[in-house]
This record gives sequence, structure tokens and C-alpha cells, in this order.
Amino acid sequence: MAATLIKKDAKNDSLVRLLGVTKMYKQPDNYDIRVLDDINLDIKPGEFIALLGPSGSGKSTLLRIITGLSRPSYGTVLYKNRPIEGPNPRAAMVFQSFALYPWLTVQQNVELGLVAKGTPPEKRRQRAIELIDLIGLGGYEDAFPKELSGGMRQRVGFARALAVDPELLCMDEPFSALDFLTAENLRSELLDLWLESRIPTRAILMVTHGIEEAVYMADRIVILSKNPARVVADFPNLLPFPRNRKSPEFVQMVDQVYKIVTGWDEHEPEIETIASEPQEVDGQEPARPRLKPIPYGHISMLSGLLELVADRGGHDDLYHLGAELFLEVDDLLPVTETAELFHLAEVREGDLFITELGSAFVEKDVNERKAIIREQLKDIPIVRMITRVLSTKANHAMNKEFFTDILEEHFSVNEAERQLMTAINWGRFADLFHYDTDTEQLYLDEDQTSDPVPHSIQDS
Ligand code: ADP
Ligand code: MG
Repeated sequence: MAATLIKKDAKNDSLVRLLGVTKMYKQPDNYDIRVLDDINLDIKPGEFIALLGPSGSGKSTLLRIITGLSRPSYGTVLYKNRPIEGPNPRAAMVFQSFALYPWLTVQQNVELGLVAKGTPPEKRRQRAIELIDLIGLGGYEDAFPKELSGGMRQRVGFARALAVDPELLCMDEPFSALDFLTAENLRSELLDLWLESRIPTRAILMVTHGIEEAVYMADRIVILSKNPARVVADFPNLLPFPRNRKSPEFVQMVDQVYKIVTGWDEHEPEIETIASEPQEVDGQEPARPRLKPIPYGHISMLSGLLELVADRGGHDDLYHLGAELFLEVDDLLPVTETAELFHLAEVREGDLFITELGSAFVEKDVNERKAIIREQLKDIPIVRMITRVLSTKANHAMNKEFFTDILEEHFSVNEAERQLMTAINWGRFADLFHYDTDTEQLYLDEDQTSDPVPHSIQDS
């Protein structure tokens, strides 16, 4: 009975339908990266969908395409069975960063959407006041954004989106810039407005990187992969409202989603790495292989995580670990992926198991830890490339920019920077090379030039 509280409109027609939506972005070297690949998705009236995926996977891009702010490179977006040609006036967006105009009052910010719609001034004023009241900001009509707390600003963001009576409400990580309690209040207030039909919105699509948030609010969960984004899971969340985060059913659902989110990349096709490049050259020029990205797991986080798991007897649930370390899955996964890459731990069905090498790592002092990581870095193409370049240069030094340029051949500008900074973090820890943050130089000192990674030099 309680499950029927989930809103479903009688009519089963799609509000939004994505057919084979693919999005490519051009990189500075003119090489196209495929961000979204063949996304098919139906959004039906009555649905509250949470869209989960790693950061940088293309969630915001997908929202912009759905609301008509951006066009797909291939594929079709239908709104009520008609192709959309531009910004969709029946959709509204709430952003993470509030996106308010600082020189306008609360009231004026909320009225903005109605100005665009051509609503007459008096009606506009009336509607804005109603909404400001609805979202709990009555009395603040004439305040400016800078006079408000983050939570109040996001309330204005909601009011502005709701002012246009959107049929489709899109939200891009709307709670993630707020402190815990404020976020929690806003979540349950929005949920009440929605479940009690106090807003005319017919469907909600919320991008989030919080699995708990998704399970708490949404009645359908869609999970995207990365590089490129594809829909890797799409399933209903039928837990009855009001949802209790402590109930066994809730915890089980969160755990299940965690397993899917942490498991999808096992099926990812292997990208060729430059590690396999040198042997098979055989006289002719091989096609330039693409560099395999490394996960952004910093060594301090990695050590912290392994120590915690070791304390727990060698394995623990990823979801518990994330909660304990105050990490969202987006921040936790790069660390667990790094642990796996270095053979220090393994992820199986949502649990992290420490390996023998991982246990040894935890028990050792810092010098021995460095030695373990150094050994593992021999197999990491980006780190090998850096040590190879530094050891073959006469002065054993090179600007960071040189490496960024190389990486930009393989990754987007932001990704290249992130890849390099991660590789530097690893290499410095393992004493493979030094990095001077003031001069932005990577260099080897005397004991490092005496061939720290023998086979990486022979490769060149
Ligand atoms: P998410 O919201 O999941 O974090 P985004 O949709 O913001 O991801 O970005 C997905 C990928 O597309 C990222 O690699 C990002 O760098 C790239 N990207 C986003 N917008 C553009 C753009 N306008 N031009 C080039 N690349 C872009
Ligand atoms: Mg985003």
C-alpha cells in the first residue's frame, strides 16, 4: 500500500525521450572526445529520476541537452514526442552554484524566469511572493543574495526554477554545496512539495553524486559510466515514503547501488596503454596508442583508507568506508581504484579486501612503503614516461608544462592537469623524482639519476 505513494501519472506517454544521444567535444588538438555515447532514456510523467555517475562523466552535459541548452552531436531529443529545437520553456534548472544575480533582490531573482515568459508585472510579483513563501523565505523578498546563507540562496534557486511552473525540473547537484543539515532540510522540503503535488512539476531529474541522496529521494535511479558515458544501469527504487535512512531496506538499497557504481568499470573495454608499446614496434611506425588514465588517488588518502580497512580485519563495505571517511563515492572510488592498481586491495561486490601486499604496506614504515609504491609505479605508463624523460635529459630536469603538453594529446585540458598532478603525487612519494611547486619543475637529484627504474629507461 505504502509503495503506491510513489507518484505515477495515469498516462504512460514519455515527457522526454532520448534516442541515441551522442555528444562529442573538440579538443585543442582537434581530436574529438566522445562524452556521451548512444544514450537512450525515457522520462515519464510522475517520475523522480536520480542520475548518478563519476565526475566528468557527462551528467551536466546530458542535463543541458535534455533542457535544450545544448544540442547532441548525434541522436534526437523529443519532448512530448516532438523534437526540441532550442531551450525548452517547459523545463527549468536548479544549479549547484545557485547562479543568482547579485545585484537583484530575492524577489527580482525569482521573477526573472517570468520576465522571460512575458508575464505581466503584477502577476509576476504575485507569483514570486507565493513561491518565496512556499520555499520558506517569506520576509526576505527585498534581501540581496550576499545577505543570505548558502541554504537560503539555494531556496531562491528553487523558487526561481519553480516560478515558471516547469513540467520538467532538472537539478544539477542542487544540495552538494550546502552544509549537511541545510541540505537535509531542503531535501525533505522539496520531496514534500513533490509528493504532495504542491508544485505542478510532472517529472524531476536530479544529478547527484550522493548514492544515499539518490536512494532517499528518487523512485528511479540511472547510472552512467565514464569515457564515454553510457547508461550502465536503470532501475526503480520502490522504497515507500517517508524513507528512513536507518531502515534495513534503505541500507540494502544503498548497498546495491554501491555495488553497481563500483562494479561497472570491470566490464569496461580495455584501453591500450603505452606500456605495451615498445616491444612490438618491429621496424614500422605503430599507430600512436592512447595513454590509459590513472585514477586520482592521492597517497595520503590511500594510506588512510588501507589503515582503516586493516583495522577492520582486512575488509569492509565500501559504503561504510565512504561514510566513515566523509567521502562521496566520487571521491572514494579513485582511491579504491588506486589501491587496486597498486595491488594493495581488491573490490569485490561492493566490499574492499586488502591484499597481502596491502597488509605489508600498512605494517611498514614510510621508507618501506615508498619502496612498495616505487615497485608498483614501474607498470604505470604516465610515471614511466616522466622518469624516462627526466633520466634521458642532460640536466635531469623538465618543466611541468612539457608533460602537460604531452598529456593534452591524450586527454582534455582539465583531465591532463589532473592526471599529471596525480602522477607527480605518486612519483614524489616514491622518491622517483622531485617536483618544485614554485618553479613548476620536475627533476631528479643525484641518487635518483642512478637508474631508479631500469626497464623504463631501456624502453626509450
Ligand atoms: P559531469 O557533470 O558528469 O561532471 P560534464 O558534463 O561537466 O561532467 O563534463 C563531461 C566531460 O565533457 C568532461 O571531460 C568535460 O571536461 C567535458 N566538457 C564539458 N563541457 C565541455 C565543453 N563545452 N567543451 C569541451 N569539453 C567539455
Ligand atoms: Mg556536472
